[in-house]
This record gives sequence, C-alpha cells and structure tokens, in this order.
Amino acid sequence: MNRIFSVIIIFLIINNVVFSQINYKDYFDVQTLRIDFMHCGNNLKESAYLEQIVQEPFWGGSKETLIDPFNYGEYRVMVYDSVSSKLIYSRGFGCLFREWQITAEAKKIERSFYESVICPYPKKTVKVVIESRDKKNNFSELLSLTINPKDYFIKKEKGSGFKSFKVLSSGIPSKSIDIVLIPDGYTEKEMIKFRVDAHRFTEYLFNCSPFKEYKNKFNIRAVEAISVESGPDIPKDSIWRNTVVSTSFYTFNSERYLMTYDIKAVRDIASIVPYDQIYILVNSDKYGGGGIYNFYNVCSSNHKASEFVFTHEFGHGFAALADEYYTSDVSYNDYFDLTVEPFQPNITTLVDFESKWKEMVNENTPVPTPSIPENYDKIGAFEGGGYVAKGIYRPMYNCSMKSQIVDKFCPVCKKAIEDMILVYTK
Ligand SMILES: [Zn+2]
Repeated sequence: MNRIFSVIIIFLIINNVVFSQINYKDYFDVQTLRIDFMHCGNNLKESAYLEQIVQEPFWGGSKETLIDPFNYGEYRVMVYDSVSSKLIYSRGFGCLFREWQITAEAKKIERSFYESVICPYPKKTVKVVIESRDKKNNFSELLSLTINPKDYFIKKEKGSGFKSFKVLSSGIPSKSIDIVLIPDGYTEKEMIKFRVDAHRFTEYLFNCSPFKEYKNKFNIRAVEAISVESGPDIPKDSIWRNTVVSTSFYTFNSERYLMTYDIKAVRDIASIVPYDQIYILVNSDKYGGGGIYNFYNVCSSNHKASEFVFTHEFGHGFAALADEYYTSDVSYNDYFDLTVEPFQPNITTLVDFESKWKEMVNENTPVPTPSIPENYDKIGAFEGGGYVAKGIYRPMYNCSMKSQIVDKFCPVCKKAIEDMILVYTK
C-alpha cells in the first residue's frame, strides 16, 4: 500500500496536481504586487537591489495556475507564504541585463538595468525570491525580500492618468490572455493613428496560427500614452526624441534591436489595465523590434515587415521561443552550453531530446536531420538555431522564428504557444 501511495504522490507532484491545489483566495487579493529593482553587474557577476514596491490595481493573470508549469526563462520569481514556507506563486522570465552580459561592453564595464517582477497581491506577509539560472540550468538566489502587504511604504499611486480603450474583449482577465498595447513616439495628434494601428496589429496577430484558433481567449486593451515627439531614438543617426517609454533602435549596437530601458515607465502605463503581456508599438517606418519572455515585446508599426515582426517577437515574449536563425549580425556564441539542454521549447542540443519534441518526429526521419529539400516539410532536428550554426538544432527547416515569413510557425512552436494559451485560460 505504502509503495502505491508513494507512486501516486510522485505522479501528482510531477503533474503539478498538488501544486495547483493552491486556492487563490486563501493567499491573494485582486491587485498586483510589483517589485522594481536595479539589476547590476558585468559579464561575470550580477546582483540586484530593491528600488520600490508598488501595488497595481488589477491582477490580469491566472488564478488557477499559480505555480509555473514550464521551466522557461533565465530568471524566475518565487513567492512563499512566510509562515508555512509553502510555495504559492512562481513564474519564469527573461530580461535585458542577461542579454547585455554577453556583449563586448559587459567585459569592460559594469552597468545597471531597471527591472521589475509582478505577482498577485498577497493577503499576508510573503517571502519573494528572484532566482537566476546559470549555464548548467541551476538556479541561485539573486534577491530575497520579506514583504508585508500592509506596509505603508508600498506605493499606491493611481497610474499614469492616460485613457485606455478596448480593442478586443473576450472574457474575464483570469481566464484570458490580456495584452496591453502601449504606443511610443505617437504625439497627441497621432493618437488617431495609434487607434488604427492597435486594430491593425490585432488583426495581424489573428491572421496567424495558432493565435487565430484561440482568438476568443484574448483581451486586447490599449493605453493612449502620449509622447511629446514623434518616433523613437535612432542613436547612430543622432536622432533623439522625447517619448513616453523611450524606445531606441541600436540596442546593444544592433540596428534593428528596438527596445527600452525605462521599465518603470512601461509598467506605470501598463498598470491601468489588467495585463499578462506588454506590447509596445513604436511609431516608425524603420525595421525593428524585440521580445523577451514575460518582460515586454516591441515592434515598429510602419514597416512592410511589421506583421511578421509583431508575431515573431510575440513568440519570444509569450512562449519563450528561441530564434531559429543562426546567420546574422547577432553574435551570441557564448550563450549556450552545448552539454546541457536549453530551456527554450523550440531548440535542442540533443542532450535531452526526449524532453523536447522527439515524440513529434517520424521514426523514418533521421536525427540530426539533413537540410535537403525532401526534408523541408518534415519535423526533425536541423542543425543551426539560437544564433549558433553548430550544436544547436531546430525543429523544421523553416519557421516564423527563423525567416521573415508570416503565419508559418512550425508545429513545435505552435504547440509551445498553444500550451501557453491553455495555461493562461484554464
Ligand atoms: Zn519553430
């Protein structure tokens, strides 16, 4: 009997059944707890220091899946009940600091990045731990805080004062994927254009599979955040503009990498609506964008490839998908340890292929899979991906995570996106 009982318990733990029994209302209120911190270091070391703690008015996330069932992201936030030490919330995420760590600059100087994590607002004192993943996939503590939700230093300012509007309404936030669209580089006069763009980009998302199959699971809201000047910064062209979240091309000196360091402004604007994912639309006709898992997504709004960029970046930000290309000016050769399995669902080192999409590969398809025309439409393991030409494998010859093609996520990327949608909407 004992043995059977143990087997059942192990089965339940593996399947998160035990974890999922956390009752939201026992531990959490209706708002969001936001912890802002400075993430500092160089290529070899990192540390984090508290900036501020904020209560945001809405929690847009799931109230069912409180423990992260995926193991994605270079970082994770863990929330423990302070009395029982029980884990009551966790979520993986990525950030700009980790990407900066592999740039040449990080070998020369130390820098700090403003960052932020959120969780549902606790009813009682909690211990919040932010953990960092190393190259061997082990996590270690980066920042640990004990937070009493009744502490009167927790900020409760009422948002940014901007108006918001609904683009798509499907259901209650706790059972929907809530995307907040933030404009950058749109002046007051250009707010009419932003309204049109918000609807156009919403159409782009649902032109694309598997998003279109789950359209009725998405809420899309937009905040009319007004910029003083039109368009983003383009440092190499000496173009500097005063905009509401300060997006800039040439992030880490990559021309098309369009990002912002001003996380505080981004969060303050997003917080006036319930949200799971932040998408910044940048008023520019220059090609560019970016997306980091559970951090934010960015896309320029007026380029002919903007539809592709919009869904591609959302693959990063929403489902932790890796880029499947390997020939570009992005040089991240030190990014992966080829002796461990990367966490991203759509690339593998073949070290633990069973944990990835091996079961989706036909038994007649060789692994690794030769890049020859007869294999182009097969699922396999094609060498090259994640900016690395050798030792990293991708699921298909082509995919929207590899090439500039619209509505062409490979079956493995589609499944990763679907799995994420189902977790948000359970
Ligand atoms: Zn793919």
